[in-house]
Amino acid sequence: MIVVTDVHKHFGGFRAVDGATLEIKEGSITGLIGPNGAGKTTLFNVIAGVLPPTSGKVTMAGDDITGLPPHTLFHKRLLRTFQIAHEFGSMSVRENLMMVPGGQSGEGLMAAWFQRARIADEERALLKKADEVLDFLTIDHLKDEKAGNLSGGQKKLLELGRTMMVDAKIVFLDEVGAGVNRTLLNTIGDAILRLNRERGYTFCMIEHDMDFIGRLCDPVIVMAEGKVLAQGTIDEIKNNDAVIEAYLGT
Ligand code: ADP
Repeated sequence: MIVVTDVHKHFGGFRAVDGATLEIKEGSITGLIGPNGAGKTTLFNVIAGVLPPTSGKVTMAGDDITGLPPHTLFHKRLLRTFQIAHEFGSMSVRENLMMVPGGQSGEGLMAAWFQRARIADEERALLKKADEVLDFLTIDHLKDEKAGNLSGGQKKLLELGRTMMVDAKIVFLDEVGAGVNRTLLNTIGDAILRLNRERGYTFCMIEHDMDFIGRLCDPVIVMAEGKVLAQGTIDEIKNNDAVIEAYLGT
């Protein structure tokens, strides 16, 4: 689904991504691991249109998407989760979900009286969708809670929920398990697996928790020094000498 070919991202003379080539297969939950500074986040940002690459190519289902901005990728249903922005912290969980899809009739237009019925219909549809997402993620009970009051793990669930408001095809998750307690980590893992199996979502996730990766990801791609070092199942990766060396060397 996503093919990355010889991507470089240099910051001045520093090669954060130094010729990365990899493929994310449709329907997979692909893990991206590697020591700190390996270039994982930078590569994510290049694929998701946050940073333009210095050189190289990224395609999605055969189409060249190299350097396309996030809002264009959003329309292709390629999403990267982002932390809930500070200014949304005082809004409820449900309102945060309803903020996601753009292009409603009221946006950027004078809401003339004859448009009101249409806006009301769209709001009802959004509300229904938000309630479905809350139910799917088993966070109904949090719908009226201010997003700013959520725990770290609950915020991660809300970030995942926002991708469901637009029926994503492929979602890039950046350390969704960082600092999350085991119970919530299991809930997040279950949600990812169900989205993958029941709704056909493809995922690519940067993660450090090996148990979490082992439960969810196949294949696992290992990056080191801006390049892809190895790829395989979690067991193959754990027993790969070059991978062990890359981790021990840092
Ligand atoms: P990882 O996610 O694997 O830990 P990163 O992609 O965050 O790695 O970083 C790779 C390297 O690129 C690091 O050495 C980091 O300091 C450097 N780097 C990342 N972003 C920038 C930037 N905007 N300017 C300069 N150097 C950067």
